[in-house]
Amino acid sequence: MPDTIHLLPDHIANQIAAGEVIQRPASAVKELLENAVDAGATEIKLLVNDAGKALIQVIDNGKGMNASDAQNAFARHATSKISTIEDLFQIRTMGFRGEALASIAAVAQVSLKTRRAEDEMGTAVEIENSKVTDTSAVACPVGTSISMKNLFFNVPARRNFLKSNSAELKHIIEEFTRVALAFPEIYFSLSSNGQDVYHWEGGSFKQRAIQVLGNAYQTKLVTVGEKTDYLTITGFVGKPDTAKKTRSDQYFFVNRRFIKSAYLHHAVANAFEGLIAKENFPSYLLYIDVDPAQVDINVHPTKQEIKFEDDKIIYAFVQAAVRHALAQFSVAPSLDFSLDANIQQLDAIQKPFTDEKYNNTTKQSLYEGFSKKNQAHLISRSENASKQDWKSFFTDIPSSNEGLDTAGESYIVKASSMGLYKEGNPLQIEETASLLQLHQTYILAPSQSGVIIIHQQLAHERVLYEKFQKASAQPHATQKSLFPVVLELSVSDAILLEDIIEDLALIGYEIEPFGQNSFIIQGIPADVISGNEKNAIELLLEQFKHFSGDIKFSKREKLIRCMARQMAIKAGQALSHKEMHALIESLADCDIPTITASGAPTYVELKEDYLDGLFSK
Ligand code: ADP
Ligand code: MG
Repeated sequence: MPDTIHLLPDHIANQIAAGEVIQRPASAVKELLENAVDAGATEIKLLVNDAGKALIQVIDNGKGMNASDAQNAFARHATSKISTIEDLFQIRTMGFRGEALASIAAVAQVSLKTRRAEDEMGTAVEIENSKVTDTSAVACPVGTSISMKNLFFNVPARRNFLKSNSAELKHIIEEFTRVALAFPEIYFSLSSNGQDVYHWEGGSFKQRAIQVLGNAYQTKLVTVGEKTDYLTITGFVGKPDTAKKTRSDQYFFVNRRFIKSAYLHHAVANAFEGLIAKENFPSYLLYIDVDPAQVDINVHPTKQEIKFEDDKIIYAFVQAAVRHALAQFSVAPSLDFSLDANIQQLDAIQKPFTDEKYNNTTKQSLYEGFSKKNQAHLISRSENASKQDWKSFFTDIPSSNEGLDTAGESYIVKASSMGLYKEGNPLQIEETASLLQLHQTYILAPSQSGVIIIHQQLAHERVLYEKFQKASAQPHATQKSLFPVVLELSVSDAILLEDIIEDLALIGYEIEPFGQNSFIIQGIPADVISGNEKNAIELLLEQFKHFSGDIKFSKREKLIRCMARQMAIKAGQALSHKEMHALIESLADCDIPTITASGAPTYVELKEDYLDGLFSK
């Protein structure tokens, strides 16, 4: 019997391997652009014909190669970037596996011209089916030009799999954009079928962001910037009004490498909670820099997915940094000092903090990075102490107006950015102060240093929210209905109501099952006007369903939020002087008087300086 196992010839082995790295023209574009970046180029030009199916050429002014490197570059596992296993944990270049050129040479006709600054003559190399067919000395500029023609000419099955030119070009532009965003200091140009598509001069991150996203973003980006010893995060998020129905314009870079991460995306989306509609996506460009030892980039063939040593910390950090940025620029009211529900689930927060753990933790460099004032995720022994510092993370907002888009904005102090709590609380308003209700929606009140405008509905929502929150410790008063109301529900609503009946009891609803999807309402919260119970419960169920998909919040939290929203006095309702006072007083008594649970501001203060400014010549 003859042996059945044999080694594949190189060119076939390479073709198989190429399948991982080069799936379509865009993947070759990515690899070639990254090689140019790794070569230290300051100018990179990309030319494609037929969406890269006929030609992909990348011309750079990087360091070039000598004659033997130019030939060896195409061998499998030929790389100049790592040489030991340890190097794998300190990667600062885009490439390191030495696979890209070998893969490309297996599936296209490749020609290379390259010259180093110190060499008089450059080298030209021709390759087909993984074999060097010709080399010669040529005169050429410093740097490297690689062109690959007829991608998959020798693998018709793959060629047939390619999509239309417009679809493939879209992928190319995507990769091109990602690399360009990661390296704004480099000039990039793209031409397609001889026509200029982009040329982006080198500049700052912000300049590159505007080049890519368009001029309209000039005033629409909020700068994100936080730094600890452990990691740095910089970049931009679009103001809430730039949120889109599609997922475009969302970029994460880790050590300048574009990555896809649903997990980190969730962190950003969370930070935008309450600021944009549920079905919309925020735009963002965020650059995370960490010690390369803290990430494993070797988990995915195209290196677009990475593994963090501790991704929960990164999550917390990203979310806090974005919130902070939004608050700082007065885009978002965000004195919401409570840690996000997701973060609250973390072991670090859930598990009791033992001395042993404390000692272990403080020894880690991670701890050092997070134990400084103003850090996003403060690791501390006492719950209170940690809350304190979490608070100051948000309140220590630079006093300079740097970064504000319009001069005026800095004077309009949103409640959220005042950091005023009980002391000096502008809501401490004297009984005798005259109040004015505007459009049956706003309450105008004098404050110590100007005037505050309170949104009656949102303010009341906050008041009720806190009231209900505290009700679990001390159940809310119930008023018994004189004439109990029977409620008939659909099967699914009945199941839902049963599920929350106990929680409703805590906030004052006395409801009892009455057989066959029916319920009887025996009592309602003391402060709800009776006569409308049925409607109120139905509305509540409706809202609750709407919320239900949201796994972030506990059942109770959802319920409380719905209740607060539903029972708040509405805009359009006339209020007496006494009622306005009572509302402001209860708001002032809140733990967080400045925003609703979902993050809308409850009031704003216009400072005297601002008012004066309005009337100066
Ligand atoms: P890797 O980037 O993983 O090292 P590649 O197959 O992409 O592997 O490239 C192999 C080697 O060829 C690189 O390590 C580098 O030394 C050299 N090289 C490739 N492209 C260029 C370029 N544009 N300029 C200079 N050297 C290059
Ligand atoms: Mg490479």
